[in-house]
Amino acid sequence: MAKEEKMRVVFLDRDGTIIADRHSLHRIEQVDLLPGAVDGLRTLAGMGLALVVATNQSGVAHGKFTEDDVRKVHEYLRTIVAEQGVHFRAFLYCPHHPEGSVPEYALICECRKPASDMAKQAETFLGEIDYANSWSIGDKPTDVEFGQKLGMKTALIRSEYWTAPPDPKPDLIVNSLLEAAQKIRTRAT
Ligand SMILES: [Mg+2]
Repeated sequence: MAKEEKMRVVFLDRDGTIIADRHSLHRIEQVDLLPGAVDGLRTLAGMGLALVVATNQSGVAHGKFTEDDVRKVHEYLRTIVAEQGVHFRAFLYCPHHPEGSVPEYALICECRKPASDMAKQAETFLGEIDYANSWSIGDKPTDVEFGQKLGMKTALIRSEYWTAPPDPKPDLIVNSLLEAAQKIRTRAT
């Protein structure tokens, strides 16, 4: 029996990575793709990496918006990116926060990055993941920590959320998702 090949994945943060960080973004009118983001996604998909969005959305726990709002934003994002020929394999989000004001979401969970559960969720439908050849890309140190805990390589986008030198140290420091994708492709060839 042929050995099934493990899936290589790029776990993508959403806000500040694929779309502009609007702080508590929850309506489709607020969704603005960052410059070059779709080209970056296309480059990564072209390398055979499965595109999986993994995003902390603690605004749900803080009562700022609902899970339904999150899903609508993701459906919209899926659609506008698909119109440009690029397809996400999954959208995963964590609605929790330990200090949330909505009791059902105010808890210490296993899915809020840097915890690993969103990757485990991805494995339930992608199959086993080849973490050593997978990437985490985001604009916060927690995105790096999330990837490193699972043995992935990591790219950190410059943002207001960290100052140099970043801790933990990523494999790549970049200005955008597009630059991350180009550098990942260069490393692979
Ligand atoms: Mg972010």
